[in-house]
Amino acid sequence: MAEVLVYVDHVDGAVRKPTLELLTLARRIGDPVAVYLGANAESAAPALAEHGAVKVLAADAPEFGDYLVVPKVDALQAAAEAVSPAAVLIPSSAEGKEIAARLALRLGSGLITDAVDLNAGDEGPVATQSVFAAAFTTTSTVTTGTPVITVKPNSTAPEAAPAAGTVEQLSVTFGELATGTKVVSRSPRESTGRPELTEAAIVVSGGRGVNGAENFAIIEALADSLGAAVGASRAAVDAGWYPHSNQVGQTGKTVSPQLYVAAGISGAIQHRAGMQTSKTIVAINKDEEAPIFELVDYGVVGDLFEVVPALTDEVKARKG
Ligand SMILES: Cc1cc2nc3c(=O)[nH]c(=O)nc-3n(C[C@H](O)[C@H](O)[C@H](O)COP(=O)(O)OP(=O)(O)OC[C@H]3O[C@@H](n4cnc5c(N)ncnc54)[C@H](O)[C@@H]3O)c2cc1C
Repeated sequence: MAEVLVYVDHVDGAVRKPTLELLTLARRIGDPVAVYLGANAESAAPALAEHGAVKVLAADAPEFGDYLVVPKVDALQAAAEAVSPAAVLIPSSAEGKEIAARLALRLGSGLITDAVDLNAGDEGPVATQSVFAAAFTTTSTVTTGTPVITVKPNSTAPEAAPAAGTVEQLSVTFGELATGTKVVSRSPRESTGRPELTEAAIVVSGGRGVNGAENFAIIEALADSLGAAVGASRAAVDAGWYPHSNQVGQTGKTVSPQLYVAAGISGAIQHRAGMQTSKTIVAINKDEEAPIFELVDYGVVGDLFEVVPALTDEVKARKG
């Protein structure tokens, strides 16, 4: 069976969930081979093997941490040349997409970004994308070279399928461009204890209807009861009620969780663009004509200041 390269996104050896999703999708196309860059490959290998990696190609060098994406592109190119894979799968983060674009150019291959599903096809992997603010769904195959495909987080649920996961060293020679952009400082983002917005299985977002920074506490309380991330509309963010890093939409983050709860959000096209591929959408809005109700699975016409706390209490009660 053909091998499929999966780029591993990790934090010091802790494999992030989107990579496990990619391994799950990769198995539909061939045998997943994980490409792990940085230290602690041995501690990541069990999780990768558990999710179907037949092999882990590992490379460690200071360049991966000290410079921006080019060293990683060099490594993936080396892996692609060593393995001749049926496809290269990369998580759809901002960094992932930059790596993918550069890699596709290097390999002379076609590139598909932001896939929301992936299946085997007669002409190679078939990627599904949700485009034009999710107004259309397209399916595409790469017709030139080795398909390089980035896949959005939460496109599938990670499934275990234990495989060998043998760690092998990948030899990488860095090109001249690898050290072109140096990382000069890093400051860790303040942890909220909540999941990362773009990876969370559940997102609870508040909009202008929340009516003030202090009122976001009720959105956070619902999010915490569900183990969810907190999002916000641009109106809420522009008003200074919540950080810009939590904005969902065309000019914010794109999320695709299993459950998206929108409270006090009207459903403008630019907001939809960032959340419309969510699996189940729930809206709470006091205006029954609000456009968000056109795309919801469940809609509650009501005052969010009554509905959201009641929902939080109910979730907590059911959790016991
Ligand atoms: C180029 C461009 C890019 C943009 N990018 C983004 C983007 O990335 N993300 C984004 O979100 N927007 C974006 N916008 C802005 C977008 O057009 C909307 O203005 C914005 O999404 C509106 O936010 P909102 O739904 O919170 O506010 P509003 O449209 O004002 O809606 C507030 C809603 O809250 C309801 N409400 C009020 N009080 C209550 C209550 N007590 N209980 C229940 N419901 C209540 C109201 O009925 C209303 O439906 C962009 C716009 C442009 C032009």
